[in-house]
Amino acid sequence: MSGPVSTADVPVPAGTAGPSRDGRDIAVMGSRSGAVGALPVQRLLPQRARRTVGAWCFFDHGGPVEAPGGALGIGPHPHIGLQTVTWVLAGELVHRDGLGSEQPIRPGELNLMTAGHGVVHAEEHRSPGPLHVVQLWVAQPDATREGSPAFEHFGVLPQLDLGGGSATVLVGAIGGARSPARRDTDHVGAEIAVRSECVVPVDRRYEHVVVPLDAAMEVAGKPVTPDQAAYLAPERDEILLRTAAPGRAILLGGVPFEERVLMWWNYVARTREEITAAHHDWTARRPRFALPASVLDPIDAASPPWDRS
Ligand code: MN
Repeated sequence: MSGPVSTADVPVPAGTAGPSRDGRDIAVMGSRSGAVGALPVQRLLPQRARRTVGAWCFFDHGGPVEAPGGALGIGPHPHIGLQTVTWVLAGELVHRDGLGSEQPIRPGELNLMTAGHGVVHAEEHRSPGPLHVVQLWVAQPDATREGSPAFEHFGVLPQLDLGGGSATVLVGAIGGARSPARRDTDHVGAEIAVRSECVVPVDRRYEHVVVPLDAAMEVAGKPVTPDQAAYLAPERDEILLRTAAPGRAILLGGVPFEERVLMWWNYVARTREEITAAHHDWTARRPRFALPASVLDPIDAASPPWDRS
Protein backbone atom coordinates (compact mmCIF):
# COMPACT_ATOMS: atom_id res chain seq x y z
CA MET A 1 0.00 0.00 0.00
CA SER A 2 1.17 3.45 -0.60
CA GLY A 3 -0.35 6.77 -0.10
CA PRO A 4 -0.72 9.52 -2.55
CA VAL A 5 0.15 12.60 -0.54
CA SER A 6 -1.41 15.16 -2.77
CA THR A 7 0.16 18.39 -1.68
CA ALA A 8 2.81 19.76 0.61
CA ASP A 9 0.05 21.10 2.84
CA VAL A 10 -2.21 18.34 4.04
CA PRO A 11 -5.55 19.62 5.36
CA VAL A 12 -6.19 19.29 9.05
CA PRO A 13 -8.87 16.62 9.61
CA ALA A 14 -12.41 17.85 10.04
CA GLY A 15 -13.39 18.32 13.63
CA THR A 16 -9.91 18.97 14.94
CA ALA A 17 -7.79 22.05 15.09
CA GLY A 18 -4.57 20.15 15.34
CA PRO A 19 -3.20 18.86 18.60
CA SER A 20 -4.77 20.65 21.52
CA ARG A 21 -2.92 19.87 24.68
CA ASP A 22 -5.60 18.30 26.82
CA GLY A 23 -3.21 16.68 29.22
CA ARG A 24 0.24 17.16 30.66
CA ASP A 25 1.90 16.04 27.47
CA ILE A 26 -0.77 14.27 25.43
CA ALA A 27 -2.71 15.45 22.38
CA VAL A 28 -5.42 13.34 20.74
CA MET A 29 -5.37 13.90 16.98
CA GLY A 30 -8.01 12.98 14.41
CA SER A 31 -7.44 11.49 10.97
CA ARG A 32 -8.75 11.86 7.43
CA SER A 33 -10.76 9.19 5.63
CA GLY A 34 -9.47 8.40 2.18
CA ALA A 35 -8.70 5.55 -0.17
CA VAL A 36 -5.56 4.07 -1.66
CA GLY A 37 -6.80 2.44 -4.83
CA ALA A 38 -9.92 0.62 -3.65
CA LEU A 39 -8.77 0.26 -0.04
CA PRO A 40 -10.42 2.62 2.47
CA VAL A 41 -7.84 4.17 4.79
CA GLN A 42 -7.61 6.44 7.79
CA ARG A 43 -4.63 8.78 7.32
CA LEU A 44 -3.12 9.71 10.67
CA LEU A 45 0.13 11.26 9.38
CA PRO A 46 1.05 13.72 8.04
CA GLN A 47 -1.10 16.46 9.49
CA ARG A 48 -0.51 20.18 9.12
CA ALA A 49 0.01 20.55 12.84
CA ARG A 50 2.19 17.45 13.08
CA ARG A 51 4.05 16.34 9.99
CA THR A 52 6.43 13.92 11.68
CA VAL A 53 6.77 11.85 14.85
CA GLY A 54 10.47 11.11 15.08
CA ALA A 55 11.26 10.50 11.40
CA TRP A 56 7.89 8.76 10.86
CA CYS A 57 6.15 10.89 8.25
CA PHE A 58 3.20 8.83 6.98
CA PHE A 59 0.65 6.54 8.64
CA ASP A 60 -2.24 4.93 6.79
CA HIS A 61 -4.50 2.47 8.58
CA GLY A 62 -6.16 0.45 5.79
CA GLY A 63 -9.28 -1.61 6.34
CA PRO A 64 -10.29 -3.97 7.72
CA VAL A 65 -12.37 -4.76 4.64
CA GLU A 66 -13.78 -7.90 3.11
CA ALA A 67 -12.61 -8.08 -0.49
CA PRO A 68 -12.10 -10.64 -3.20
CA GLY A 69 -8.44 -11.45 -3.91
CA GLY A 70 -6.87 -9.04 -6.34
CA ALA A 71 -9.27 -6.19 -5.68
CA LEU A 72 -6.98 -4.09 -3.53
CA GLY A 73 -3.59 -4.32 -5.22
CA ILE A 74 -1.50 -1.22 -5.85
CA GLY A 75 0.38 -1.13 -9.15
CA PRO A 76 4.03 -0.11 -9.63
CA HIS A 77 4.75 3.40 -8.33
CA PRO A 78 7.93 5.29 -7.41
CA HIS A 79 9.40 6.44 -4.10
CA ILE A 80 12.37 8.56 -3.09
CA GLY A 81 13.85 9.55 0.27
CA LEU A 82 11.85 7.24 2.53
CA GLN A 83 11.49 3.76 3.94
CA THR A 84 8.17 1.97 3.57
CA VAL A 85 7.10 -0.28 6.44
CA THR A 86 4.25 -2.58 5.47
CA TRP A 87 2.54 -4.36 8.37
CA VAL A 88 -0.29 -6.76 7.57
CA LEU A 89 -2.85 -7.52 10.31
CA ALA A 90 -5.10 -9.76 8.19
CA GLY A 91 -4.85 -11.02 4.61
CA GLU A 92 -1.82 -11.31 2.38
CA LEU A 93 0.02 -9.02 -0.04
CA VAL A 94 2.83 -9.77 -2.47
CA HIS A 95 5.56 -7.16 -2.66
CA ARG A 96 7.46 -6.74 -5.94
CA ASP A 97 10.11 -4.10 -6.57
CA GLY A 98 12.50 -2.94 -9.25
CA LEU A 99 15.40 -4.55 -7.39
CA GLY A 100 13.93 -7.95 -8.27
CA SER A 101 12.40 -8.64 -4.85
CA GLU A 102 9.26 -10.77 -4.77
CA GLN A 103 7.97 -11.38 -1.25
CA PRO A 104 4.62 -12.40 0.20
CA ILE A 105 3.72 -10.35 3.29
CA ARG A 106 1.66 -12.12 5.94
CA PRO A 107 0.51 -11.07 9.40
CA GLY A 108 3.41 -10.75 11.83
CA GLU A 109 6.00 -10.27 9.08
CA LEU A 110 7.86 -7.04 8.39
CA ASN A 111 8.48 -5.61 4.93
CA LEU A 112 10.92 -2.72 4.91
CA MET A 113 11.91 -1.06 1.65
CA THR A 114 14.45 1.75 1.51
CA ALA A 115 13.92 4.06 -1.45
CA GLY A 116 17.08 6.19 -1.32
CA HIS A 117 17.44 8.00 -4.66
CA GLY A 118 14.69 5.95 -6.21
CA VAL A 119 12.82 2.64 -6.29
CA VAL A 120 9.54 1.32 -7.68
CA HIS A 121 7.31 -1.24 -6.00
CA ALA A 122 3.92 -2.87 -6.39
CA GLU A 123 1.80 -4.56 -3.73
CA GLU A 124 -0.47 -7.20 -5.17
CA HIS A 125 -3.43 -8.48 -3.20
CA ARG A 126 -3.82 -12.19 -3.74
CA SER A 127 -5.84 -13.56 -0.86
CA PRO A 128 -9.62 -13.65 -0.76
CA GLY A 129 -11.22 -12.54 2.49
CA PRO A 130 -10.38 -9.63 4.75
CA LEU A 131 -7.51 -7.21 4.33
CA HIS A 132 -6.27 -5.12 7.23
CA VAL A 133 -2.94 -3.36 6.83
CA VAL A 134 -0.80 -0.54 8.16
CA GLN A 135 1.45 1.41 5.79
CA LEU A 136 4.13 3.59 7.36
CA TRP A 137 6.88 5.75 5.91
CA VAL A 138 10.07 6.86 7.62
CA ALA A 139 11.83 9.95 6.20
CA GLN A 140 15.44 9.13 5.44
CA PRO A 141 18.05 11.53 6.81
CA ASP A 142 20.40 13.48 4.54
CA ALA A 143 23.11 10.90 5.32
CA THR A 144 21.31 8.12 3.40
CA ARG A 145 18.45 9.59 1.41
CA GLU A 146 20.41 9.83 -1.83
CA GLY A 147 21.88 6.35 -1.40
CA SER A 148 20.97 3.05 -3.02
CA PRO A 149 17.55 1.45 -2.67
CA ALA A 150 17.27 -1.74 -0.61
CA PHE A 151 14.70 -4.28 0.57
CA GLU A 152 14.42 -6.35 3.76
CA HIS A 153 11.88 -8.89 4.98
CA PHE A 154 11.68 -10.45 8.44
CA GLY A 155 9.40 -13.41 9.07
CA VAL A 156 10.01 -13.39 12.82
CA LEU A 157 10.43 -10.32 15.02
CA PRO A 158 11.49 -9.92 18.66
CA GLN A 159 8.71 -9.87 21.24
CA LEU A 160 8.56 -8.52 24.76
CA ASP A 161 6.15 -9.73 27.44
CA LEU A 162 4.51 -6.74 29.12
CA GLY A 163 2.37 -8.60 31.65
CA GLY A 164 -1.13 -7.67 30.50
CA GLY A 165 0.09 -7.46 26.93
CA SER A 166 3.04 -7.95 24.61
CA ALA A 167 5.09 -5.94 22.13
CA THR A 168 6.26 -7.05 18.69
CA VAL A 169 9.16 -4.82 17.72
CA LEU A 170 9.21 -3.83 14.05
CA VAL A 171 12.04 -1.30 14.16
CA GLY A 172 14.29 -0.12 16.99
CA ALA A 173 13.85 -1.46 20.54
CA ILE A 174 11.30 -1.79 23.32
CA GLY A 175 12.88 -2.67 26.64
CA GLY A 176 15.50 -5.28 25.80
CA ALA A 177 13.82 -6.48 22.59
CA ARG A 178 15.58 -5.06 19.53
CA SER A 179 14.53 -5.48 15.90
CA PRO A 180 17.16 -6.49 13.33
CA ALA A 181 15.57 -4.15 10.75
CA ARG A 182 17.61 -1.36 9.19
CA ARG A 183 17.26 1.98 10.92
CA ASP A 184 18.70 5.23 9.51
CA THR A 185 17.48 7.48 12.34
CA ASP A 186 16.88 6.99 16.08
CA HIS A 187 13.29 5.68 16.09
CA VAL A 188 11.03 2.81 17.17
CA GLY A 189 7.97 1.07 15.76
CA ALA A 190 6.01 -1.72 17.47
CA GLU A 191 2.67 -3.48 17.56
CA ILE A 192 1.34 -3.72 21.10
CA ALA A 193 -1.23 -6.43 21.84
CA VAL A 194 -3.11 -5.41 24.98
CA ARG A 195 -5.13 -8.03 26.86
CA SER A 196 -6.32 -5.70 29.62
CA GLU A 197 -3.68 -3.29 30.81
CA CYS A 198 0.06 -2.98 30.27
CA VAL A 199 2.92 -0.54 30.67
CA VAL A 200 5.22 -0.02 27.67
CA PRO A 201 8.73 1.20 28.56
CA VAL A 202 9.83 4.00 26.22
CA ASP A 203 12.88 6.15 25.51
CA ARG A 204 12.76 9.55 27.28
CA ARG A 205 14.30 11.27 24.26
CA TYR A 206 11.49 10.15 21.95
CA GLU A 207 8.17 11.68 21.05
CA HIS A 208 5.51 8.99 20.39
CA VAL A 209 2.19 8.33 18.78
CA VAL A 210 -0.18 5.46 19.67
CA VAL A 211 -2.96 4.37 17.28
CA PRO A 212 -5.49 1.67 18.32
CA LEU A 213 -6.19 -0.77 15.49
CA ASP A 214 -9.20 -2.79 16.64
CA ALA A 215 -11.21 -0.85 19.19
CA ALA A 216 -10.98 2.13 21.51
CA MET A 217 -8.10 2.08 23.99
CA GLU A 218 -7.03 4.24 26.88
CA VAL A 219 -3.58 5.72 26.27
CA ALA A 220 -2.00 7.21 29.39
CA GLY A 221 -5.50 7.82 30.71
CA LYS A 222 -6.94 9.36 27.50
CA PRO A 223 -9.63 7.51 25.50
CA VAL A 224 -8.49 7.05 21.87
CA THR A 225 -10.48 5.48 19.02
CA PRO A 226 -9.07 3.66 15.96
CA ASP A 227 -9.51 6.79 13.81
CA GLN A 228 -7.45 8.82 16.27
CA ALA A 229 -3.84 9.00 17.38
CA ALA A 230 -2.52 9.88 20.80
CA TYR A 231 0.60 12.06 20.56
CA LEU A 232 2.91 11.96 23.56
CA ALA A 233 5.72 14.48 23.99
CA PRO A 234 9.26 13.44 25.03
CA GLU A 235 10.45 13.02 28.64
CA ARG A 236 8.27 10.07 29.51
CA ASP A 237 9.56 6.68 30.67
CA GLU A 238 6.46 4.60 30.02
CA ILE A 239 3.06 4.58 28.38
CA LEU A 240 0.09 2.92 30.10
CA LEU A 241 -2.37 1.18 27.75
CA ARG A 242 -5.74 -0.12 28.92
CA THR A 243 -8.58 -1.81 27.06
CA ALA A 244 -12.03 -3.15 27.87
CA ALA A 245 -11.44 -6.07 25.46
CA PRO A 246 -8.18 -7.39 23.96
CA GLY A 247 -6.94 -5.22 21.10
CA ARG A 248 -3.85 -4.10 19.23
CA ALA A 249 -2.20 -0.72 18.77
CA ILE A 250 0.71 0.66 16.76
CA LEU A 251 3.31 2.58 18.74
CA LEU A 252 5.71 4.83 16.81
CA GLY A 253 8.37 7.07 18.27
CA GLY A 254 11.67 8.74 17.71
CA VAL A 255 13.96 11.64 18.41
CA PRO A 256 12.15 14.68 16.91
CA PHE A 257 13.29 14.91 13.27
CA GLU A 258 14.81 18.31 12.64
CA GLU A 259 15.48 18.03 8.90
CA ARG A 260 13.08 19.71 6.47
CA VAL A 261 10.57 17.23 5.04
CA LEU A 262 8.72 18.09 1.82
CA MET A 263 6.23 15.43 0.66
CA TRP A 264 4.32 15.26 -2.58
CA TRP A 265 2.66 12.12 -3.97
CA ASN A 266 5.05 9.25 -3.18
CA TYR A 267 8.16 11.37 -2.79
CA VAL A 268 9.87 12.60 0.37
CA ALA A 269 12.47 15.27 -0.29
CA ARG A 270 13.72 18.67 0.85
CA THR A 271 12.98 20.88 -2.17
CA ARG A 272 10.43 21.18 -4.96
CA GLU A 273 13.25 20.85 -7.48
CA GLU A 274 14.11 17.37 -6.20
CA ILE A 275 10.50 16.28 -6.46
CA THR A 276 10.08 17.78 -9.93
CA ALA A 277 13.19 15.97 -11.15
CA ALA A 278 12.05 12.66 -9.66
CA HIS A 279 8.59 12.96 -11.18
CA HIS A 280 10.03 13.77 -14.61
CA ASP A 281 12.24 10.67 -14.33
CA TRP A 282 9.27 8.51 -13.31
CA THR A 283 7.05 9.86 -16.09
CA ALA A 284 9.84 9.21 -18.63
CA ARG A 285 10.51 5.74 -17.07
CA ARG A 286 14.20 6.63 -16.61
CA PRO A 287 16.54 3.96 -15.20
CA ARG A 288 16.48 5.04 -11.53
CA PHE A 289 12.86 3.91 -11.54
CA ALA A 290 13.26 0.41 -12.98
CA LEU A 291 9.90 -1.35 -13.09
CA PRO A 292 9.18 -4.58 -11.19
CA ALA A 293 7.53 -7.51 -12.92
CA SER A 294 3.92 -7.03 -11.85
CA VAL A 295 0.55 -8.10 -13.16
CA LEU A 296 -0.65 -4.57 -12.34
CA ASP A 297 -0.24 -1.43 -14.45
CA PRO A 298 2.10 1.35 -13.32
CA ILE A 299 0.45 4.30 -11.56
CA ASP A 300 0.99 7.78 -12.91
CA ALA A 301 0.13 11.18 -11.52
CA ALA A 302 -0.20 14.68 -12.97
CA SER A 303 2.77 16.99 -12.45
CA PRO A 304 3.11 18.75 -9.10
CA PRO A 305 1.13 22.01 -9.03
CA TRP A 306 4.27 24.15 -9.14
CA ASP A 307 5.43 22.37 -12.32
CA ARG A 308 2.37 23.03 -14.49
CA SER A 309 2.41 25.62 -17.26
MN1 MN B 1 4.45 2.53 -2.03
